[in-house]
Amino acid sequence: MSVGVLALQGDFREHREMLDRMGHYAYEIRKPEQLRDLDALIIPGGESTTIARLIISNNFQEPLREFCASGRPVWGTCAGAILLAKHVDRLDRPGIETMDISVVRNAFGRQVDSFEADLEIKGVEGGPFHAVFIRAPLIDAVHHPAGAIARLEDGTVVAARQDNLLATSFHPELDDDTRLHEYFLSIGRGIQPQPRTLPEGLSHAMAPFVDETGRLTAWPVKERIQREAIAWLAHRFEHGRHYTEAEVNRVLDAAHSFHDAALLRRLLYEWGYLDRERDGSRYWLAGPHVAEDTHAS
Ligand code: GLN
Repeated sequence: MSVGVLALQGDFREHREMLDRMGHYAYEIRKPEQLRDLDALIIPGGESTTIARLIISNNFQEPLREFCASGRPVWGTCAGAILLAKHVDRLDRPGIETMDISVVRNAFGRQVDSFEADLEIKGVEGGPFHAVFIRAPLIDAVHHPAGAIARLEDGTVVAARQDNLLATSFHPELDDDTRLHEYFLSIGRGIQPQPRTLPEGLSHAMAPFVDETGRLTAWPVKERIQREAIAWLAHRFEHGRHYTEAEVNRVLDAAHSFHDAALLRRLLYEWGYLDRERDGSRYWLAGPHVAEDTHAS
């Protein structure tokens, strides 16, 4: 699928990178003509008054309204949700005004500028979704044909769907959980994706980076996920066995596909999973199970 992210202001890059990792063609959209060939569009978080201003000055308003009317999926996250709403409290100029929801900007007040919450989202399988809210709007009214699909514990609506349109007041592109992006893209295909079965021992955060055999297909940007990936790779080595550097590389080559065994080998060592001779001639799995006699092979 070819997916665009409106790139006038805000965190469009994070969405694009997530879509790239999911294997889609993702484009940063800066001109109305670029909308023509897209299958789906994301309007990212940022500063909604600034994005609204740029939408008008770049002649995007009508093309965006037409895109929404064309039935192709459009997803507004945070400021993007504000721009999709027909009614907005405190926005000094019109946005796209297409979804039958009403939103209140900066609704959670200064004292809770940012917070996180685990949400059940209707249509998203596999357990709660960890949502990050940053100076977020809340959705204070949802009118038919729009419907709420996620709420905070106190009942506040934070995600809504209306046919091909999706609005979330949080930022799903800041974590590594791709389920909501998958849900969004499935709107265009008219189907719900099957929840993916991950190899045992892998968390959802790792899902974008492994194939079904457990092989790493891309290197995560976040160190937390990198550390999980390295711990995962360490399972490929046998306790008590010694490996030459070439043998380590062979194990790693079978376990990843982005051709950077040297990086993985170095991190396995630096993060304490592999020990090695000073000159790098031999490696072995570190930890309590290492054979006493390091000369046995
Ligand atoms: N407070 C911002 C606005 O009203 C939205 C915040 C965001 O997108 N993270 O534009």
